Amino acid sequence: PGGTPSDAALRARAQAVIPGGLWGHLNAARLPEGYPQYFTAAEGCRLRDADGREYIDFMCSWGPMVVGHRHPAVEAAARRQAEQGDCMNGPAPVLVVLAELLVDTVAHADWALFAKNGTDATTACVTIARAGTGRRKVLVARGSYHGAVPWCSPSLAGVTAEDRAHLVAFDYNDTNSLDAAAEAAKGDLAAVIVTAFRHDFGRHQEMPTPEFARHLRALCDATGAALILDDVRAGFRIDLAGSWEPLGVRPDLSAFSKAIANGHPLAAVTGRERFRQAATEVYTTGSFWCGAVPMAAAVATIGELLRIDGPAHMRAMGERLRAGLDALSRRYRLPVRQTGPVQMPLMIFDDDPEWAKGDLFCATALRHGAYFHPRHNMFLSCAHGEAEIDRALEAAEAGFRAVAGR
Ligand code: PMP
Repeated sequence: PGGTPSDAALRARAQAVIPGGLWGHLNAARLPEGYPQYFTAAEGCRLRDADGREYIDFMCSWGPMVVGHRHPAVEAAARRQAEQGDCMNGPAPVLVVLAELLVDTVAHADWALFAKNGTDATTACVTIARAGTGRRKVLVARGSYHGAVPWCSPSLAGVTAEDRAHLVAFDYNDTNSLDAAAEAAKGDLAAVIVTAFRHDFGRHQEMPTPEFARHLRALCDATGAALILDDVRAGFRIDLAGSWEPLGVRPDLSAFSKAIANGHPLAAVTGRERFRQAATEVYTTGSFWCGAVPMAAAVATIGELLRIDGPAHMRAMGERLRAGLDALSRRYRLPVRQTGPVQMPLMIFDDDPEWAKGDLFCATALRHGAYFHPRHNMFLSCAHGEAEIDRALEAAEAGFRAVAGR
């Protein structure tokens, strides 16, 4: 009473002053019935909504939160920098520290530059590749998400054919279609951009096959095109050296954002020596891109991930979640498929073309205190411990029970 307005009251007010109530991917209208839109607090892997309900969070801000909401070391680093200055006439010294840290940590990186959003980073990679090769064509996998500007937006509203004139589509993990696309771009191939694994919305996830990754590297070596790894979503959860490092395939350019600063706004492009000159020549900048607070947060976040081996922790917790969900699926005789790396899980029910089971499962689990997503990959964090996974599995059991009609 007298405190925060309810979720419903905020949504009603927003309808009048915000297009569609909310732009973009965080609009709760895209989620099953009952999901909150507004949040008032977050701590570790827990969220509280405007109506005072609490959840164990398996979306992690859709990626950014990786060591826990309000992580003490990250927030202390951000606060220390904020007390000295953030958006100034040039960067703070922490820029150099962060660039050195990325060059030391990311295997292919000889240099780094920074921006705000993942879209800035993927777009800069494409621009740098075109500048460095003097060519125009970029191969993009059908259905892959690379950002929210005309060359890559999943919506065609406001997009012209010219915005995409030099893109050629291929199918992820399909070397024949990759070769055909490269042939179509012959002589004018600037780059191939790929996500770290196939995580297209609303379908099972797919890891890159080693053959596909190696074939792609060989294609880029043979043609001089840049291999761009869009590591915006997977970066810092699979391997701190870069998400294709376990495959032994190194990109020429990588785009990072999301988890790089545990929720502080920052993106990065890393690249090989060969593209340093092109990265020097392109004009890539923004009013806030040298902001020092997110950079201080990034140094602390990456430091913490290195210190505790964050990917190993998330893998262990992801395996516990996957095994628990599999056991429930068997117990309730409701077959599911779980795909992708365990630290970025996705569970889709068999025979669920309209998402009726998935939506009911998630809506029920939500009421029992676990925030899952039925069709977008989820995210684990270093703040998820065994107790939180087990608690979430109890909520998941309520979800399975509802789908089983018990
Ligand atoms: N690439 C990938 C693979 C992404 O997942 C995203 C964000 N979902 C982006 C690019 C764009 O990042 P941002 O939303 O920060 O612009």
